[in-house]
Amino acid sequence: MLERVGHDGKVLAGGQSLIPILNMRLASPAHLVDINGVAGLDRVEVTDDAVRVGALVRHAGLESHEAAYAASPLLRRTVRHVAHPAIRNRGTTVGSIAHADAAGEMPAILALTDGLVEAVGPSGTREIPWHDFFLGALETSLAPDELAVAVRFPRLPAATGTAFAERARRHGDYAMAGVAAAVAVSDGVLTSARLSFVSVTDVPGVVDVTAAVHGQAPEEVDWAACDDLVRAHLTPESDIHATAEYRAMLATRLAHLTLARAASDSISSSA
Ligand code: FAD
Repeated sequence: MLERVGHDGKVLAGGQSLIPILNMRLASPAHLVDINGVAGLDRVEVTDDAVRVGALVRHAGLESHEAAYAASPLLRRTVRHVAHPAIRNRGTTVGSIAHADAAGEMPAILALTDGLVEAVGPSGTREIPWHDFFLGALETSLAPDELAVAVRFPRLPAATGTAFAERARRHGDYAMAGVAAAVAVSDGVLTSARLSFVSVTDVPGVVDVTAAVHGQAPEEVDWAACDDLVRAHLTPESDIHATAEYRAMLATRLAHLTLARAASDSISSSA
């Protein structure tokens, strides 16, 4: 169907982003291709390597999936910040990633976990690494005749702790800024520290701040040493919710908070 109408059509998954866009007349595709009746897309699969989330898994389905939580706690810690329960009951995690809004939480997690998108089109199946998938604001490398059938969030190495935090004017609103952190502690010192941001960049990405903290004890580290690397990555914009300066300040403070939490998580999960 997408091969026939792809250039003049849009995939409809949960409709939680697409329908508001149609309501606001920001897009007017001639065709909607509703995938909700397609069998086999509604599964979460947990393997030794990754958590694979099918295109019809609702945010709420991922949130409540115990095996996915055990394999990758960051998924539940983050997806519960996506909108409100009613929206999470309908909106899909893959749809959120296909929508490629850098204000969305799950694109940031796909980046931080070095994940990929599985796409199917007339010429077959391909796996698209996150850094080749997100091209710009609301722009991906999916062809109009391709369907994202699943995303894979690789499991992080065993000693890696994670954390997510964000601030919004009201719980469930899009965040003014959000941060996900993945930190590894080995023999009492930091060996790796990486961050991904929500609402303060154009495109989801990852900042590796390991160089600023490597070899330090987590209880003594000054996380502000990461600030220059973080600020160089951010491209916040002002809007009615917050100024660009406030968003940048919030993002750096949340980076300190999540790095510290992720370090504690690394220590407690390897104890
Ligand atoms: P749809 O709305 O159906 O589709 C979105 C876009 O992705 C469309 O362009 C569609 O063609 C494309 N698409 C969807 N699935 C596929 C696929 N499998 N293959 C190819 N293309 C596809 N999101 C957040 O991340 N954080 C928030 O805080 C947040 N707050 C919200 C608050 C409100 C009031 C609302 C209405 C929505 C909010 N959302 C938020 C958006 C929500 O998470 C959406 O569910 C999600 O962004 C899109 O998923 P969907 O399944 O609804 O996709």
